[in-house]
Amino acid sequence: MYIKKQRLLTPGPTPLLPRALHAMMASDIHHRTSDFQKLYRQVLTDLKDVFGTKNEVLPLSSSGSGAMEAAVSNLFRRNDKVIVCTAGKFGERWVGITKAFGLNPIVVEAPYGDSVSAARLAEALREHPDARGVFVQASETSTGAAHDVQAMGALVKNTDAILVIDAITGLGTMPLDIDGWGLDVVIGGSQKAFMIPPGLAFLSVSDKAWEFHKTCDLPHFYFDLKKERKNALAGESTWTPAVSLIISLAEALKYIKELGMDKLIANAQMLAAATRAAASALGLELFSPNAPSSSVTAIRPPAGMDSGLIVKGFRNEFGMVIANGQGEMKGQIFRIAHLGYFDFADLFATIGALEIILNANGYIVPYGKGVAAAQSFYAEAIRTR
Ligand SMILES: *Cc1c(COP(=O)(O)O)cnc(C)c1O
Repeated sequence: MYIKKQRLLTPGPTPLLPRALHAMMASDIHHRTSDFQKLYRQVLTDLKDVFGTKNEVLPLSSSGSGAMEAAVSNLFRRNDKVIVCTAGKFGERWVGITKAFGLNPIVVEAPYGDSVSAARLAEALREHPDARGVFVQASETSTGAAHDVQAMGALVKNTDAILVIDAITGLGTMPLDIDGWGLDVVIGGSQKAFMIPPGLAFLSVSDKAWEFHKTCDLPHFYFDLKKERKNALAGESTWTPAVSLIISLAEALKYIKELGMDKLIANAQMLAAATRAAASALGLELFSPNAPSSSVTAIRPPAGMDSGLIVKGFRNEFGMVIANGQGEMKGQIFRIAHLGYFDFADLFATIGALEIILNANGYIVPYGKGVAAAQSFYAEAIRTR
């Protein structure tokens, strides 16, 4: 009966940058032309810039998981022992992929809502000096927890192993000094902080990791990083790329460079901190209070309330799509995203809607209490900026 605008508040896909969306209209160009090559070269340069690395950053036409698989199938050997630090559903995906390719994963697990400490990784590395790889999420999207990949990099740097990071929601929400911290493989995805639709994945590969490629004996064909790098240097992709997304990405990267990657990160960090302040004002608990990620905030519903009611309330009453918990966490949490093209106006609206939904489901909070906390946070942030 009232207008409901469709709003995406999920940690992927995320809201689209309008100018990147509009750019997709010009997708009727062929990928083996000089026009496209020029654009592709610019994208490759800007990707390195935005990732902040001297490594080649290779785009693949797949969702983020394709790049996760490519990292395994292009750099390791059958029966390789690897350490997988897992703290949620995406960590479990590393376990699944490494097993699927015949690796031998040693799983270092943290309970959902927690993260694997660098000290635990150090212990695992001591116990397994023959490990050839360490896998982790920079930001575990399923729980809203972050990992200390800087400390992990410092540990792995001194070993013969490589550090493979799923930074799909870490990029653009937390500082990642790829070259300085020794982050060998860093993976991103288009539908997260890059503000464009799903369908592209990115991989930064260090010199140390390229050495691993030489002894890799695992089958791969479509995702062939060596071929991809060779073609990238010639301004081409190996196969027909997702042309519309590359065109869109070119605009998004331009925007991120204008804004500054550090500002994009600060934006997510501010929104995340303001969301935590609002949740606390509303008497709600965080799911991952110890190391909260700035990509997404996972919040527990009031005691006795299924988080599905909150998710449904957002969708039905306000046209807002927020994420429920995944797997066993379904019904236990709801997740509000901050990565990419989000601003404070989005957040005020989200918290305002949340207050109405909570009251409608019997959890009585004064209207405006959470919004006021977010507003105060914002006012303070711009005062001290
Ligand atoms: C979104 C996401 C992925 C990739 O999932 P796809 O559906 O393959 O794009 C991987 N890891 C994390 C942490 C993510 O948030």
